Amino acid sequence: MQEGTIIKVSGPLVVARGVPDPKMYDMVKVGEELLMGEVIELRGDTASIQVYEETAGVGPGDPVFSTGEPLSVELGPGLLTSIFDGVQRPLDIIRERVGNYITRGVEEPGLSRTKRWHFTPTVKVGDELESGDEIGDVQETPTILHHVMVPPGIKGKVKRVEEGEFTVEDTVAILDDGEKEHELSMMQRWPVRVPRPYKRKLSPDIPLITGTRIIDTFFPVSKGGTACVPGPFGSGKTVLQHAIAKWADSEIVVFIGCGERGNEMTDMLLEFPELDDPHTGESLMTRTILIANTSNMPVAAREASIYTGITLAEFYRDMGYDVTLQADSTSRWAEALREISGRLEEMPGEEGFPAYLGTRLAAFYERSGRITCEGCKEHIGSITAIGAVSPPGGDLSEPVVQATLRVVKVFWGLEDKLAFRRHFPAINWLVSYSQYTRKMMEYWDEDVDDEFPALRNEAMGLLQRESELEEIVSLVGIEALSDQERMVMEGAKSIREDFLMQNAFDDADVYTSLRKQFLLLRLIMVFYYEALKALEEGKAVQGIIDAPVREDIARAKYIPEGDEDRFDELERRIVEQLAAVESQV
Ligand code: ADP
Repeated sequence: MQEGTIIKVSGPLVVARGVPDPKMYDMVKVGEELLMGEVIELRGDTASIQVYEETAGVGPGDPVFSTGEPLSVELGPGLLTSIFDGVQRPLDIIRERVGNYITRGVEEPGLSRTKRWHFTPTVKVGDELESGDEIGDVQETPTILHHVMVPPGIKGKVKRVEEGEFTVEDTVAILDDGEKEHELSMMQRWPVRVPRPYKRKLSPDIPLITGTRIIDTFFPVSKGGTACVPGPFGSGKTVLQHAIAKWADSEIVVFIGCGERGNEMTDMLLEFPELDDPHTGESLMTRTILIANTSNMPVAAREASIYTGITLAEFYRDMGYDVTLQADSTSRWAEALREISGRLEEMPGEEGFPAYLGTRLAAFYERSGRITCEGCKEHIGSITAIGAVSPPGGDLSEPVVQATLRVVKVFWGLEDKLAFRRHFPAINWLVSYSQYTRKMMEYWDEDVDDEFPALRNEAMGLLQRESELEEIVSLVGIEALSDQERMVMEGAKSIREDFLMQNAFDDADVYTSLRKQFLLLRLIMVFYYEALKALEEGKAVQGIIDAPVREDIARAKYIPEGDEDRFDELERRIVEQLAAVESQV
């Protein structure tokens, strides 16, 4: 390692001269304590370096050592169940070693060097492999089988492969490409700012099924899709994030906690490991990686954390897993970007954010997607990226939210107003949207029921009519509405209360399969259509509204999965009871 010399220190930013052969995004070690840093700007002979640790005590004249390597993460068994900081230092292990506050210059690798894993080859000597191909498996946690892959850029014929107990650094296989032998271990390294390669991006035509009805039926996200959710305090953002992590049909969860206030982050670090995985009964951590940056950690590590997170997600995607990545909050991430940009004295854009904010956000979300992985064997993996935004004062017109909305395809408008009314999940159905809806309809049509797409649109239509009628009602009272319009109000109320409202703390209600979502919505709409028919036949509107079957409709969300007969029976009951309503006098 050769050295350069620091000429200026400004918070997390250090400017150095004479760093030998510097390249953008190279890692360097700063000062006598060898603090981790990354080159983020080069101008003539000077390099600007963002430092991932407190720079107090570092000053002009101190040395900077180059490593010649970009900021990278370690990929291999042991990632799951881990809690890392933004540059993949394992927080729990560091805490054991040095206490609650990370002392500066602590080097602790992302993956344990001493833990042994049982490696079982899935290839044999003589097999021809290319990058992305699996060479063997490791039972990483009780629930996840880790596929050890040939790293990008390497191929060859298997010359040796062994079963046994190995550390991540031991050689488990040797490939011979005709010119050179490659010793493969269970660990790869990858630069976080470079997307990992894949063969092809696939069209987003399969839903991520979350079991949350307002999402799956009205504002669906596809596997490999992107979504954004604002979270005013108390609106139920955490509950929603946990529900998606636990219930969505993806195998791996990567959660990036990005500089929310320190105590909120502590909550996350305490709460997440307590969550159970409803699919297996194990701890959810057995298929989760947490990345945590509190706001009292250096700002540069926060900037890096979303890249670290998405690289880990890409690694499991490459094994053929469906991954959901949640980042909370990208507003805090953007603030880190703004702070560093300010110190670089770059020309500020809107509200002081750098002009490249939008490009950076787009590049991050661009790394999501459902893809055909590298390798000879066809396999598919996906990353669904869900970013929470926390704009100051809940102002959705501010630059980070706007830049995010330009790239993501789904918006779940969580609102504290609905939460105050105890309407949960507090997602406003009038402002939310999903650009995947059309694609999902093809899926629903084939895999759920061909009535489902139309039914969903009609239900959405009713909700919109309700909001228009509400204005009239607030001006001139309910009496001003025609009987048909009263029925619209009743139908929409039923959709809101009996379908959209979903209690995340009720075992029977927290998850609804797509099939049951369809049956439940059809039940609600059947009542509405039968009610309209009854009105045409001259039945009394109040009699229809008071039909006892409406109590059953309200309880239908608790009907066990698979009990389709109950729904059929309720539909019959609707027809019978409305037929029995007296005619208007
Ligand atoms: P935030 O993280 O947005 O501040 P939380 O997720 O902690 O808010 O939610 C606040 C409270 O709202 C929860 O403690 C819970 O009582 C209620 N809540 C949120 N979502 C639901 C839900 N789907 N079902 C029932 N209660 C909910």
